[in-house]
Amino acid sequence: DDVQSQAAQIPRYVRVNSLKWSIDEAVMAFQKSGFDLGNPRDGRYFARDAHIENLLLFPRQAQLTDTPEFSDGRLIIQDKASCFPAIVLGPPAHPGCVIIDATAAPGNKTSHLSALMGNQGKIFALERDRKRYGTLKTMLARAGCGNVEALNLDFLSTNPNDEKYARVTHILLDPSCSGSGIVNRMDHLVESESESSSVAHAERLAKLAAFQLQMIRHAMKFPAVVKIVYSTCSIHPEENEQVVSAALRSTEAAASGFRLAPRTTVLPAWSRRGKPGILCDADTAAVVRCSPEDLTNGFFVSCFIRPFGTLSDMR
Ligand code: SAM
Repeated sequence: DDVQSQAAQIPRYVRVNSLKWSIDEAVMAFQKSGFDLGNPRDGRYFARDAHIENLLLFPRQAQLTDTPEFSDGRLIIQDKASCFPAIVLGPPAHPGCVIIDATAAPGNKTSHLSALMGNQGKIFALERDRKRYGTLKTMLARAGCGNVEALNLDFLSTNPNDEKYARVTHILLDPSCSGSGIVNRMDHLVESESESSSVAHAERLAKLAAFQLQMIRHAMKFPAVVKIVYSTCSIHPEENEQVVSAALRSTEAAASGFRLAPRTTVLPAWSRRGKPGILCDADTAAVVRCSPEDLTNGFFVSCFIRPFGTLSDMR
């Protein structure tokens, strides 16, 4: 069927962890093991991704994970769309940079952030679930992330005015969602709409959306934060544009001055933008969607910013 044939076309994506390896070294290693760079007719084909630095793509059927490069953290299996949030958040590679990854496990985006920061500054990586927190710690150690403090915490229970978070300027929010965008089973379960009645489905989405909105509103309370990226692997507007719309209308947004970063600063070259008719036109263009038609899983990325001046105006 349709989803199956779309799934068959999505390449297997591999991110080269720049904390441990370079893309050139990775390309050479794959060539040495018999992969052919840039020859699409060959089953041993691989290529560099056109949009994301340090990302390689392989045919779906390629057997990849049994090699030392994966077990020692030089290579990380990560869908293309799920590389967007860390890039959009764009934390500066600076020793003074402090950020929060509020929903971190298993840690793909945390390790990507750590790499973008060049292992400098500090990332508080929060994960509420005990078991997933364990996975996160293992993953971060394997990836060589030295600038991360992993915390087994519920983000909503953190105090934004805690001295510990006083210098946090960026927050990544990639909370639990329906997972409806995942066409290939990765670490999420594929949603089967036929499993449940449409009423149960709507109720589930409403619950998730309420939680997602709460997470964004909480992030907006951190005093020094100037940038928040909110992403999901859902295709439902209820979890995406509608949550963003509610967040923009929240008392926290009004108090803090958060608005959406303009399209020109959020993957401007990516043509698939928000679902129309929910946000104003400029804001629809300011958010990003991904679809199997782009050879990725279904995904959504939005970016809230506030001008530095707003902070002092508030006080
Ligand atoms: N960003 C991760 C990555 O790229 O590897 C994937 C995150 S997954 C979509 C969402 C995670 O958030 C789950 O591990 C879930 O247990 C965790 N989570 C959900 N609510 C949370 C909360 N209130 N505080 C901290 N973690 C939470």
